Amino acid sequence: MPEIRLENVSKVYKTEDKRKQYAVRDLSLKVSQGEFVFLIGSSGAGKSTMLKLMGGEISPDEGMVLVDDVNIGRYFGPWKARLARTFGIVSQETLLIRKRTIMENLMVAARASGLQRKSRPAAEKALGLVGLPTVGDAYPAQLSIGEVRRVELARALISSPPILLLDELTANLDDDTIWDVLHLLRELNNRGTTIIMATHASQYVNIMRQRVVTLVDGRLFGDVRNGRYGDIV
Ligand code: ADP
Ligand code: MG
Repeated sequence: MPEIRLENVSKVYKTEDKRKQYAVRDLSLKVSQGEFVFLIGSSGAGKSTMLKLMGGEISPDEGMVLVDDVNIGRYFGPWKARLARTFGIVSQETLLIRKRTIMENLMVAARASGLQRKSRPAAEKALGLVGLPTVGDAYPAQLSIGEVRRVELARALISSPPILLLDELTANLDDDTIWDVLHLLRELNNRGTTIIMATHASQYVNIMRQRVVTLVDGRLFGDVRNGRYGDIV
């Protein structure tokens, strides 16, 4: 089962006045299969960048991202497809296609991850898991923001990936729904799925008592087991 390692990873962007700005700086971290990790830090701290680096959506400028000891920067061809099956991703930006129904969206994702004839039952099952079994015929714009986030979670779950990378999944959800989603994630985690989620939902982080990784200005500032929001040692 996949283990992720970041080794001295940096990601640099150019600012408008052409200065170099580190989104993530010299970050080293290991996440073993089956861990539940909350990634916290203020806006601009580098959380989304770190998740995108882990999932291979962007490449580091320095250092390496390894999945099971293989540098994913060197992935190509069939390895890329393998990477797509390894990670279920919910980005901060929506990944749903506006002009397709929810069911069509999920079936596109299912086929992309190699489920062919099984794509419809897999989509129905995933919608059931997130508590939205009846939204298949709706278009994304017809759902609330919270429902869209849950559909995006369903999309990420569709091929039962070993690792979930979730960016601000709980933003815009009401308290009851956050609980439902966290229960679902905990259940998946109990069955072995790795969960790495960036969140601002401090009260839930404090109740769940999982590993808490804190970023400040792109650097690793804290990494605590059974942690609380804001713990650094
Ligand atoms: P967070 O998710 O913690 O809010 P991000 O990873 O989105 O932080 O961003 C970290 C820093 O990198 C911010 O200063 C942001 O402006 C910058 N950044 C992120 N992505 C880009 C990009 N594509 N182009 C330029 N700057 C970026
Ligand atoms: Mg972000």
